[in-house]
Amino acid sequence: MEKFDAVVVGAGPAGSTSAFVMAKAGLKVLLLERSKAAGEKNVFGGRIYSHVLKRLFSNFEDEAPVERYVVRETIGMMDDSDCVSLDFVSRRDTPRSACSFVARRNRFDKWLSEKAEQAGALFVGGTKVDDLIIRDGKVCGIVSGSDTIEADCVVDAEGVTAALSRRAGLRNDVAPSQIKVGVKETIQLSRQSINERFSLSDDEGAACVYIGQPTSFLTASGAFVYTNSESISIGVVVDPLELSQARIEVQEMIEKFRLHPSMERLLSGGKVIEYSAHMIPNSVPALPSNLIRDGFLSTGDAAGFFINHGFTYRGVDLAMASGEAAGNAVVEAHSLGSYGREELMRYYSGLSSTVLPEMEHAEKTGEVLHNERIFSTYPSIAIGFMEDMFRINGFDREGAASLLKKNMSGRVSTLRMLRDAYSAYRRM
Ligand SMILES: Cc1cc2nc3c(=O)[nH]c(=O)nc-3n(C[C@H](O)[C@H](O)[C@H](O)COP(=O)(O)OP(=O)(O)OC[C@H]3O[C@@H](n4cnc5c(N)ncnc54)[C@H](O)[C@@H]3O)c2cc1C
Repeated sequence: MEKFDAVVVGAGPAGSTSAFVMAKAGLKVLLLERSKAAGEKNVFGGRIYSHVLKRLFSNFEDEAPVERYVVRETIGMMDDSDCVSLDFVSRRDTPRSACSFVARRNRFDKWLSEKAEQAGALFVGGTKVDDLIIRDGKVCGIVSGSDTIEADCVVDAEGVTAALSRRAGLRNDVAPSQIKVGVKETIQLSRQSINERFSLSDDEGAACVYIGQPTSFLTASGAFVYTNSESISIGVVVDPLELSQARIEVQEMIEKFRLHPSMERLLSGGKVIEYSAHMIPNSVPALPSNLIRDGFLSTGDAAGFFINHGFTYRGVDLAMASGEAAGNAVVEAHSLGSYGREELMRYYSGLSSTVLPEMEHAEKTGEVLHNERIFSTYPSIAIGFMEDMFRINGFDREGAASLLKKNMSGRVSTLRMLRDAYSAYRRM
């Protein structure tokens, strides 16, 4: 096969964005994807922050396969039977001006890969890349089955397994402490039922996250609900190490979540049409030594770019931003006529103004998310307090301060709670 300026491995958001940027600049780009069509088997919760798309595609709102624009955000704390939630609804502008939207990966990834093709990249589906060609310390192409393809640069966008980044010596084997596990169900419901149950209209959507019982009070874990146009995605994200110590299977967790009294009503009459599971990267230090080598760049999930803020999950916009930065770096290296590590360092400087500050901030948030009181003690206190506040059965109601004290008693001291609140405030 002919030689390419760049081979991109994986047509997820990182790979297709990177291929788009390079092809648009006139480079000869091959985009390889193991599934027949991009996105066919890709799993995620459902929400995409659109800032990178809006910058790259001026007509994205007219073209992109958006299910719904997010106008309703819910953060909930659950125990076995109750739920306390904070609901934020913004209809200040039109839904289309919302900063995020709900999408389905089979449609979204296909659309994005077609954008790369339209820009001039050659997309080949049904092709799994098995290895890298490395000569004199430089990555010079890829191996797929019995085929070898030469390229000046390889962009690894194969997702969380990061096999090629490991082969390139940028990463160690994936350890259980470096991943989370996400499980998702898609439940079919009519548009009208979804609109009525979530108080939405037309192309308005909801993004909801929950902590506490949906994930058996495990730390840094939670559940999500996203409204598609005619289905609802629900799921849980859990730490596999904690899960192995808890006496519950992840399938059981999602079942419990689906049957929780506050969920059951929202999902009633729906039919589960899809079940999927996938790994999610825990952030790894984003150092040049983990991302770049001569003729090779690691992007998206392969580079560990995922953020769990507790109130939102983010990976797709980081994948696209890193794909864009990688694409720009390869374009510059091409103009310099050399694809060495030094020339490709432009990738790292591109990330410095986008993904890296977010990742640094997320590291701080991560410390908060490992405080077990946030996932067990405080949900129980909040639910007990609300119950006492709103259940009036006579003439003996106590004041709010006394009810709070009663619910905190034996669970957490006031000083501890204030310290946790201050710590969360400083790190979120
Ligand atoms: C349960 C769950 C919920 C999530 N929720 C959200 C959310 O709501 N919002 C959000 O922004 N992010 C979310 N994420 C994270 C998000 O899905 C990822 O961060 C994002 O998809 C990363 O994009 P990527 O392009 O790096 O990798 P991927 O999307 O994983 O794409 C990698 C592509 O490479 C292909 N591939 C893999 N190996 C090879 C190979 N050897 N050869 C050829 N092709 C290969 C794959 O088939 C795939 O198409 C969630 C993830 C999970 C698991």
